[in-house]
Amino acid sequence: MTQVLSVTSECVPLVKTGGLADVAGALPDALAPLGADLRTLLPGYRAVMAACGTAPAVLHWPDLMGGPARVLHAALGARALYVLDAPHLFDRAGSPYLDADGRDWPDNPRRFAALSLAAVRIAATGIEGWVPQVLHLHDWQAGLVPVYLAEAGIAGRVGTLMTVHNIAFQGLAPAASRGELGLPESGFTPEGYEYFGQISALKAGLALSDAITTVSPTYAAELMTPEFGMGLDGVLRHRQAHLSGVLNGIDTGVWGAPYKTPQGKRRHKAALRAQLGLPDGDGPLCVVVSRMSAQKGLDLLLAVAPALLGQGAQLAVLGSGDADLEKRFGDLAAHPGAAVRIGYDEALSHLMMAGGDAILVPSRFEPCGLTQLYGLAHGTLPVVARTGGLADTVIDANPAAQAMGVATGFQFAPVTAEALAVALSRMMQVWQAPDQWRRMQRNAMRQLVGWAVAAAEYARLYQGLVRN
Ligand code: ADP
Repeated sequence: MTQVLSVTSECVPLVKTGGLADVAGALPDALAPLGADLRTLLPGYRAVMAACGTAPAVLHWPDLMGGPARVLHAALGARALYVLDAPHLFDRAGSPYLDADGRDWPDNPRRFAALSLAAVRIAATGIEGWVPQVLHLHDWQAGLVPVYLAEAGIAGRVGTLMTVHNIAFQGLAPAASRGELGLPESGFTPEGYEYFGQISALKAGLALSDAITTVSPTYAAELMTPEFGMGLDGVLRHRQAHLSGVLNGIDTGVWGAPYKTPQGKRRHKAALRAQLGLPDGDGPLCVVVSRMSAQKGLDLLLAVAPALLGQGAQLAVLGSGDADLEKRFGDLAAHPGAAVRIGYDEALSHLMMAGGDAILVPSRFEPCGLTQLYGLAHGTLPVVARTGGLADTVIDANPAAQAMGVATGFQFAPVTAEALAVALSRMMQVWQAPDQWRRMQRNAMRQLVGWAVAAAEYARLYQGLVRN
């Protein structure tokens, strides 16, 4: 068994703000049959402690970045979950990253440096007699691990795999916090954790990990370009030989299609319309489940929504985030064919996937994207921007794909309102040809969107990182 510690700031079912949580939560069980013993290290936020607080403590440190800390042994599926209980860092109200007013916690660099340092201490001493051979680092929150491994003098015996779920979050901190974070002066260089005069935890992980993955092949290629690399494209080009894309899967137990027939779809659609107060209609019911941020391109959807609704389609939107977008979608809800729910609602998101006809994902960039995969599994045809994982998972209904009978959705590029409008018109055309629509639904529902492929790839990568 390859012994792997997955170091993550979120993990389903305990704490989630985005797709990272789904991935971290799914990997341990997906990897177990492939010979990897994957255990997870997660901060003991208040909600996590509420769920796991009675789990036994298996490690104690008198000081971890300014206060005492313990590691609890809890469970994640059939695998061990190690919860980092450090009240001075994690016992507070609010989200993992933001205070109640939506601002970054000012001590975020220290909070997640502590997570990284805890992972390295576990690698150094082992935990419950278990010693990780590989550390799997998720996003900037775990990015400083290679620096601390070198400081601890054990970089040579522990492999590191850094996974980028979203390059937009880079873990910046002022140069002056080097001392507080316990970072060696010698590493404050362009080859190390320095980034334009600041500290960047993500940069450290990208520059110093043994291997790097991101969550789709297209995003891996995009990250090496100035347009998508967000300032780190140069680092990634330099590390190209160690960079690959591994597409995320979804938990098909949770997101498997709850019906196999068109009648099933109709039943769920009726339930969805009833719940949202939408009238019956002949047009397609288009759904959106998304964070409302500039990344997700929902302003483009707002621009074309009146025309879409004018063609007889309906639109159901579930999301939250940017106040301006929330307000503009709120205004859109005045249209009789539109329903908008601001907030986070897991149960409604399931009903929307099951009852929708199409799912719209007009993202400006999308490392992998999960909602188009949920859509595929439910025969809810994705209309997606041709970027990142969206490009890799949806087969556009172009004439060749239609002739071959393999199309599963609609892609558009460039990511503009005009191109989105064209894709939606193409969708409406296929909607008028029910046989063609149903064929695409069948194709979509046959697509393999579970974890098997990705798990095999991670298992191979882990094995390659084990040192003798
Ligand atoms: P990102 O991680 O960039 O937000 P992904 O598509 O990778 O985008 O993952 C988003 C996840 O969050 C999906 O599981 C999606 O269903 C879920 N999600 C996003 N917004 C909501 C919401 N308002 N209610 C319920 N689930 C949501």
